[in-house]
Amino acid sequence: MKEGFLFCVCQGTCPSFAKENAYEITNMVRKIFNVEFAAIHPQLCADDGDRFLRNLLKGLDLDILYVAGCDPVMQKKMFKESFEAVGFDDIKRVGIDVRNKTTEEVEAQVKELIEKTREERSK
Ligand code: SF4
Repeated sequence: MKEGFLFCVCQGTCPSFAKENAYEITNMVRKIFNVEFAAIHPQLCADDGDRFLRNLLKGLDLDILYVAGCDPVMQKKMFKESFEAVGFDDIKRVGIDVRNKTTEEVEAQVKELIEKTREERSK
């Protein structure tokens, strides 16, 4: 299964992300889960974030894209155009709401969700 992990840090200035270290969390994902890529982006819902998503997903036959950041329902609305432009089905996106948590809490949440998703989607 080909998986990617993105951490959107809301420009790094949002108080909701103040207690967590995006670098540590992203590094944990790449070390433990052997994903295709793990990266941090400052603002995926901005114009350059749209371009980033399109360039990243274009031609990349990804099975799952984990996006840690804000509410997964908000993510769905914000990434819709970019995904549609490159034919990426939103069903492959696994959004993770990591706001207002500590690094340890987010690491545990992300690990659990990746393990659960892998289990479910490999059936
Ligand atoms: S996609 Fe969500 S987490 Fe990322 S910058 Fe926009 S509102 Fe913030």
